Amino acid sequence: MDPEQIPFPTTLLAIWLFILGLCVGSFLNVVIARVPAGQSIVRPRSRCPKCGYTLTWYDNIPLVSWLVLRGRCRGCGAPISPRYPLVELATGLLFLACLRRFGVSWELVSGLVLITLLIPLTFIDLEHWILPFSLTVPGIVLGVGLAGVQGAEALRDAAVGAAVGFLVFRLMEYLGWTLLRKEAMGGGDKYLVAMLGGFLSWKSLLGILFLSSFQGAVVGILLIALTGRAGPRAEGQGAAQEEQEAPEPELTMTWEFLKPGLPWWRRLAGVPVCLLFQPIPDEPKDEAGQEVDWVPGKTNIPFGPWLALAGLEILLLGPWLTQVLPPNLALLVGGVP
Ligand SMILES: [Zn+2]
Repeated sequence: MDPEQIPFPTTLLAIWLFILGLCVGSFLNVVIARVPAGQSIVRPRSRCPKCGYTLTWYDNIPLVSWLVLRGRCRGCGAPISPRYPLVELATGLLFLACLRRFGVSWELVSGLVLITLLIPLTFIDLEHWILPFSLTVPGIVLGVGLAGVQGAEALRDAAVGAAVGFLVFRLMEYLGWTLLRKEAMGGGDKYLVAMLGGFLSWKSLLGILFLSSFQGAVVGILLIALTGRAGPRAEGQGAAQEEQEAPEPELTMTWEFLKPGLPWWRRLAGVPVCLLFQPIPDEPKDEAGQEVDWVPGKTNIPFGPWLALAGLEILLLGPWLTQVLPPNLALLVGGVP
């Protein structure tokens, strides 16, 4: 659009939304740092982990403070991660993109909430390999609820999206355990897909599945070729730990049809039963009976960031993608017309 055609109130709204995005991003940095550790996101005030210097209001101005301090603590000069200004800037820019895509509408509100949830989920999964329930489960409720504001049809599409997304990933998780005898994906992924299905309706699910697996596979293969591993290491994972393979989890499923030597149709018949009621295998334990932390292998990638990226692409670029992609792919990504 020609910038001169954008009416003044919209420009003002855009500036306001960008600043709001920077501030929300600043809060999301707190969420990313504290939620995985189980700490409160409200209190206490942020401190430097090195020297304990308590940040004042002028150390907390999004983007500006980090630039003024040149990425160093005012108290001790310890470097502050560039993740802080990056998250703030990304939130601001994505808020702007959302305004451009939807204009002033309920879809804008829903989009802003989705972005606010996807950013911390992405960074937490990259660092800790978890998708906290405290973000995904309220996210499912918010996604379906905000669709409900837009009418009965949108509510139905969102509820179906959340349910189908959850069940499809639950099925894949189950098949991973029974056929491959290993964890094919993180247990939190199905809640993230349910959240995306709630916000973006069931029509987006095929596109999300396609975009996330395709992009994840391409980048994963490139990373293995370049660095020798597909995903980041888990936090605190040392080089010594890297050498030893993660212990095989003990399966505790006692279902009759999982026993070896049964005909394939008996196993298949058990799938729908097991899908909902299959017990989750126990955490692997060491000799002392302590739970052993799962260590990501060289070819493991956290799938959450790829699901989040696919969700953002469909949210912000959906109509554009259906125009530039070949017709078959466009139908997949754009969903059912
Ligand atoms: Zn310090």
